[in-house]
Amino acid sequence: MVKNVIKEQQHYDIIIVGGGMVGATLACALGGSHLKIAVVESYQSDFNWPEGSHDIRVSALTHASQHIFENVGAWQSMQKDGVSAYNKMHVWDATGQGQIHFDSVEVAQADLGHIVENRIIQKALQKRLADFDNINLLMPVTLESLQYMQDNFIELTTSDGITLTTELVVGADGANSWVRKQADISLHSWAYHQTAVVCNVTSSESHQNSCWQQFMPEGPLAFLPLADGQSSIVWSTTEDKAQALLNMDEQLFNQELQMAFGSSLGRISLSSERGAFPLRLRHAKNYVKQRLALVGDAAHTVHPLAGQGVNLGLLDAVVLAEEIMRSHKKKRDIGSLSTLRRYERRRKGDNIAMLAAMDGFKKLFSNDFAPLKLLRNRGLNLADRLPLFKNAMIKQAMGLSGELPHLARPLL
Ligand SMILES: Cc1cc2nc3c(=O)[nH]c(=O)nc-3n(C[C@H](O)[C@H](O)[C@H](O)COP(=O)(O)OP(=O)(O)OC[C@H]3O[C@@H](n4cnc5c(N)ncnc54)[C@H](O)[C@@H]3O)c2cc1C
Repeated sequence: MVKNVIKEQQHYDIIIVGGGMVGATLACALGGSHLKIAVVESYQSDFNWPEGSHDIRVSALTHASQHIFENVGAWQSMQKDGVSAYNKMHVWDATGQGQIHFDSVEVAQADLGHIVENRIIQKALQKRLADFDNINLLMPVTLESLQYMQDNFIELTTSDGITLTTELVVGADGANSWVRKQADISLHSWAYHQTAVVCNVTSSESHQNSCWQQFMPEGPLAFLPLADGQSSIVWSTTEDKAQALLNMDEQLFNQELQMAFGSSLGRISLSSERGAFPLRLRHAKNYVKQRLALVGDAAHTVHPLAGQGVNLGLLDAVVLAEEIMRSHKKKRDIGSLSTLRRYERRRKGDNIAMLAAMDGFKKLFSNDFAPLKLLRNRGLNLADRLPLFKNAMIKQAMGLSGELPHLARPLL
């Protein structure tokens, strides 16, 4: 499956650093073109997981993301390994009576989106990459340096002493992007002072193919439905509480979770290990420089309360692919600032709007000020009774509003 060609010197039209969900999607979107592409990934993935087990990392995918995976030829493989459609979403404020419910029937759709394990997404994308002769997946490879060679190309060296040269480097290497640091691109960033505890649970009552999200003063607690009846949870809470939740024994954890979530799903029991992710907002001041672009978490990270991070990253990937192909077809320089700025212009505004909205939600629901609590509870109930407003919210959450790139529209 992995094409790991090691020569002392190699030249590529594009080098994508990071073969995660976003980097691999970008490569697949450019698969079959005349461009020679390397995907450099530092981590050797292993897709031999025990039968019946689940990844504790899952993603809530919008319809737009599903369309992207269909268009790049990876969705079928994900379906084979297991995707879980959800058609309802229940959201409420733990400190009051406010609640809002979304149903796919209200927008005449079969579902609101899918929950898919991250390892299933990665496996499908890597399998798809292997179909393309113009793509080399170099894995595991550690990069040591990035250097501009005049204006014409960038040279990357690996820890094995291999030199890779290219007209365009794409940083798809996640929140702590090495490429971003090498390029000296600065960040707007602040800590949410919350950590997300993730794990899987069983429940005595059916999850009804619904997402359940409760806002508590310390952070939101979400239950995301898995295909076999289990749920994946994302519990964002204070750093101290998260540490305690990780350290406590299983029985105590079950009690804490039950107390926090209530009885909507009956008796809840832990069914996996627990993991933790400190939460931080990050936004790169620039997504592009001459011969260099950032996509996905390398360019921005957002609070997971509405499950939008990878959905935004996938849109970055396909918009960048569109701009690269437009420039390539016109025989222009794919690494020029004018090509790359078109990508930045098309994505930055939408990303900032989502980051700001999630930040606002997080602050609104963490606030204990009584009048604000009353207002947000009334606001939720009022929104629940306004069909037009609700439909607009559902469409936004499904990734179906605004000007979508071609690859995010239904299968071409
Ligand atoms: C708790 C939690 C829940 C979430 N839930 C959702 C959700 O439901 N829906 C959603 O849309 N988003 C969700 N997100 C966000 C989502 O997980 C991220 O946005 C997504 O993983 C970003 O993908 P990426 O490919 O940009 O980066 P990453 O997933 O971080 O991938 C980066 C890749 O680059 C590789 N790499 C790193 N450095 C180097 C290097 N120097 N050289 C080579 N390779 C390198 C890494 O090994 C990795 O494979 C959630 C996030 C958290 C923390």
